[in-house]
Order: sequence, then structure tokens, then C-alpha cells
Amino acid sequence: MEYSNFIEKIISDFIPFQKEFNKEYKIDDFENWYYRQATEILTLSTGDDEINFKYIPVGSFSSKSNTWMWAWENSHSIEENKLATLKVKKFGNQVKFKELTDGQFESDKYIGWELTAMTNHVLGGIGGYRVQSEDHLEKYFLIVEPIDNELAKKLNDQIIDCDEHESGRVAFICQHLNKKTKTGFEEAFPTWKGMELGEDDDFQAWCNECEKVRLKEDGWTDKAMEFLGGKVVCENCYFEIKEFNFGT
Ligand SMILES: [Zn+2]
Ligand SMILES: [Zn+2]
Repeated sequence: MEYSNFIEKIISDFIPFQKEFNKEYKIDDFENWYYRQATEILTLSTGDDEINFKYIPVGSFSSKSNTWMWAWENSHSIEENKLATLKVKKFGNQVKFKELTDGQFESDKYIGWELTAMTNHVLGGIGGYRVQSEDHLEKYFLIVEPIDNELAKKLNDQIIDCDEHESGRVAFICQHLNKKTKTGFEEAFPTWKGMELGEDDDFQAWCNECEKVRLKEDGWTDKAMEFLGGKVVCENCYFEIKEFNFGT
């Protein structure tokens, strides 16, 4: 089997499929797009009107270097479900298509939609989507399913962007906790990195001074809360501070 013959067939199946997807969700009517790698959610919106989808990153095309890179090869892509595209690589190994097995290679601008169609063929999605970022990078997504707007908001709100870690789950700490000075580390409940949190649970920590005030006030009174101050950090920062305080 020749790659070129195969991909031609895949594309001719994909084009009407994609048209149907665009029509059903009125994809072209939306003015803005936004995606969150940590939640693997793509949001399309115009004003208050929005729609959300779960996506799998397929890969990216640089129009500067004319290179394609599969998502599984891309260390900057933090989506966990990018590993789903390894199934396409496996398929590529079986049929001996190097376009599916080489992580990165030179190509033309059509490669993005070609490989999105191929990924859809192997993984089964509901459509494809392309975002164009300023730095001449096109990122291709396989759209897996629509998700409820409220659920999307809830999932996105649980994640905070971080300069150091890109993003992570939201964690709350007192204004005194930091990575440079040991201040003691008290927690609402025992925690470990990556743990699953219950519906109403949050990572919450405070320093020894805050603990003194809390005990004196017999709880989180207004006064104790005022002393606490409060900062929001990412989960990774939270555990760095925790380790720093307990480490030797
Ligand atoms: Zn404190
Ligand atoms: Zn962080």
C-alpha cells in the first residue's frame, strides 16, 4: 500500500465528515477560540455565546521551517491525552508509513489536515480544528466530543496558569508562605502531589504565625482571615513550598 493512495482515500472520506461537523456546531460562526492544555478543552465563542469541546492534540505545523511535529513528539505539549496519537504511530509501523512514525519532518502546509484526517481515521473523533498562533505555528486538534459549558468552566476554573509550571490545579496559601524562607506549613488535611480532591476540597496551607492566630481566635475568624491574607498558587508551587518547609 502506498501512503499517497491511502491518504487520498482518507481525505476524501474526511472532507464531507468535517463539513458536517462545521455545519452541526456552526463552527465558522464563532469569532474567538481559546484552549487550555491542562484541561484539554477548546472553547469557541462570540460574546457570551460559547461552545466547548474535549480535544486531542494531533500535532503542529511551522510555516517558518515547513516542519510537522506530532503531538507525542512535542515536549511543550502538556496535554496528557496527546499519548493517544501513539496509536496512529503504531498503525504507521504496521503499514510502514514514515509520515506516521517520524516525530518531526519537513513537509508542506497540507500535512496538518492530512494527519488530522488520519488521526480521526485511527482514533475516531467528531471533527478537526486548527488554531493559528502568532509565531507561524498551526496547531491541529482532533475534536473528541462537545462538553457542557458549565462543566468546562468548572474544569477550567480548577486550573491556574503559572509562570514556572505553565499550569496546575489551584491551591490556596497564606500570604507568608514562600519558597525562600521557612515559615512552617500547616494544612487543612494531609495532602500529596497529584492526589484526587473531593468535590468541596481544596489544597489549603498556612504558616506557623497564621496557625498561632487561628488557635488564639479559635478558628478562621475575620481577624484570622485578615492575617492570613491569602494567595493562589499552582499545585506544583504548593508542593515545592511544602517540601521546602519539611525538607532538610
Ligand atoms: Zn501565614
Ligand atoms: Zn507553579
